[in-house]
Amino acid sequence: MTAEEQWRIELDSAVCVGSGLCAGTAPTCFTLDTAGRATAPESPVPASPELLDAAENCPAAAITLRTAEEGKEIFAP
Ligand code: SF4
Repeated sequence: MTAEEQWRIELDSAVCVGSGLCAGTAPTCFTLDTAGRATAPESPVPASPELLDAAENCPAAAITLRTAEEGKEIFAP
């Protein structure tokens, strides 16, 4: 992970259980909508250990991360 690296977040809202863990771990990347489901930006975000933590620890395995440019898998549940 470099300082300039950008990742794209793929969030499967159909399986999200609204635990809020991702928003607590990486609040700049995830928010909970009014229905209690997580949302994430469609545009790429800066790579960070917090974002990787959020993806790895999502209890619903709803978060996939890819590099923004090449689409290379960083984390898939
Ligand atoms: S951690 Fe996973 S299940 Fe919990 S709100 Fe985020 S995406 Fe949904």
